[in-house]
Amino acid sequence: MASSSYSNSPCAACKFLRRKCMPYCIFAPYFPPEYPQKFANVHKIFGASNVSKLLNEVQPHQREDAVNSLAYEAEARIKDPINGCVGSISMLQRQVIRLQKELDATNEDLMQYTCNEIMQSTQDGRRIMGIEEGSSLGHGFYYPSLWNSDSNCELGYHRGSDNN
Ligand SMILES: [Zn+2]
Repeated sequence: MASSSYSNSPCAACKFLRRKCMPYCIFAPYFPPEYPQKFANVHKIFGASNVSKLLNEVQPHQREDAVNSLAYEAEARIKDPINGCVGSISMLQRQVIRLQKELDATNEDLMQYTCNEIMQSTQDGRRIMGIEEGSSLGHGFYYPSLWNSDSNCELGYHRGSDNN
């Protein structure tokens, strides 16, 4: 419980600042002694007095969110002094753009496959109905046989005559 740790030992902020943690300490609810690094980071980047000022400016029910935001921003700034949390944001934005492109390409492929599928099934339908191209009457005589190939007939005739 926060109250028990509060009464037993000073909050992380007061311990860090080497001061007595008073019952009205504004840091105590948000900087428990178990997480000393959280306050150290926030103090390093924003300064304890600025954090105190900011906490007094926001509504009590918004203070926890404000502290968590400050802690996140401070940690990011320590890890990446140039970009801070903007580094993580732009990395995630690049990831979103890359994934959006991948999704677009996959949707395009899916559309292509669906179109091919529809065309394939339409052709199958035509084949079943007997209206496939190439089956018209004009193209019926492709088979070489005695009846439609004159040269074969002549050869057969001559061979037959040679045998006689
Ligand atoms: Zn304190």
